[in-house]
Amino acid sequence: MENVIIIGSGCAGLTAAIYAARANLKPMVIDGHEPGGQLSLTTHVENYPGFPEGILGPELIENMRKQAQKFGAQFRAGTVSEVDLTVRPFKVMSGDSVLETRTLIVAAGATARLLGLHGEKELIGRGVSTCATCDGYFFRGKPIAVVGGGDSAMEEANFLSRYSTNVSLIHRREEFRASKIMIDRVKANPKVELLIPYTVEKIHAPNDLVTGLRLRHAKTGKEKEVELDGVFVAIGHEPNSTIFRGKLDMDENGYLLAKHGSLTNIPGVFVAGDVQDHRYRQAVTAAASGCMAALDVEKFLEEHND
Ligand code: NAP
Repeated sequence: MENVIIIGSGCAGLTAAIYAARANLKPMVIDGHEPGGQLSLTTHVENYPGFPEGILGPELIENMRKQAQKFGAQFRAGTVSEVDLTVRPFKVMSGDSVLETRTLIVAAGATARLLGLHGEKELIGRGVSTCATCDGYFFRGKPIAVVGGGDSAMEEANFLSRYSTNVSLIHRREEFRASKIMIDRVKANPKVELLIPYTVEKIHAPNDLVTGLRLRHAKTGKEKEVELDGVFVAIGHEPNSTIFRGKLDMDENGYLLAKHGSLTNIPGVFVAGDVQDHRYRQAVTAAASGCMAALDVEKFLEEHND
């Protein structure tokens, strides 16, 4: 029987593991389908406090993992297929094993949607990005594109126009899903050019660095080539919360609902990181919420000595 199982090994899960391990709880971390979470898919991280020269995302994550291990956190490879939260101890099914735990921290993260183009995932950090706040600075003075028609795409296009010479906003329809105020801001921005309705057909990266895009007009089928250095895919995120459907309260997009910090509708189950946060989505905010979840676990275990 575990004191606490942490589902997810990104920034939130690992910070929860560090705190829980230092509280002598010997947390068990289940890595999940993307060990290290979204940080493991980025290159330089320049906005995580404490690293004036920046740090590579995978290195930052590896350091957190080592820090958690140093204090006694245990790690288990694999994903969680099912949970039974009806009674305590909770049951967590992973591979062929059924694990029992007194408390649970869900830090399963969110996955940025990709366009599904050949080589797209491999080019993350080489011109493809899913995070303007993280990577915008690297495209100072360079032409870039943002793909998407929701609020995220509008926000990113505006944000990136601070750095980029010109931002092409590419969207597959003529109507935007984004709110009017966000669309108006983008339309009023002289650095943003709207390319609608276009779909992205191909990412050119002859030397494993993005150099351009091939677009196709959604109505006429005519192709168009765009030269640029970076493409920001802003077509939404999917919280990794499917196995909690009907068990934990979530919003209409599947983000788990946290109350009073990291608490959920089930006492003993706590949430942290991007699986409960569609607003901030930063490494430092995920880490902070992981810390909160571990402190809440500690308090819960003190109060429930069963
Ligand atoms: P979203 O609202 O779901 O929009 C996703 C956009 O990407 C849509 O325009 C969609 O096109 C497009 N898209 C989806 N899959 C695609 C594909 N395979 N190829 C090409 N385009 C694709 O996602 P979001 O913009 O990330 O926003 C998520 C939530 O956060 C929303 O509720 C939003 O209001 C909120 N948000 C708010 C703010 C703010 O208020 N400051 C900022 C960011 C996000 P279609 O429209 O054609 O389906």
